[in-house]
Amino acid sequence: MTETKTDELEIRCPRLGSIIPFRYCLISGEDSLPCFKIMDCWWEIFDVDTYLREKLPAEVYESLLSARPKPKVASIVQIAEQAKTKK
Ligand code: SF4
Repeated sequence: MTETKTDELEIRCPRLGSIIPFRYCLISGEDSLPCFKIMDCWWEIFDVDTYLREKLPAEVYESLLSARPKPKVASIVQIAEQAKTKK
């Protein structure tokens, strides 16, 4: 997909609850890198995997592949353990 076409793409963001452009997803992660959910959100719209593989540095692309949010239960357990160690 060309740059012009991706500039026109919009989607409802599951995190923000509003319509946002693809270009926002490219910079809304940590340190202005792509959002960790970019693959999950866009794969049905266009070949986002190929797009990112071609546009991003290899290490950034690889980090997106391995980026997955922790399950809520794992996060809760981790927070509880951190609270115990602080006491
Ligand atoms: S990739 Fe991130 S910012 Fe973009 S729509 Fe998905 S959750 Fe929202």
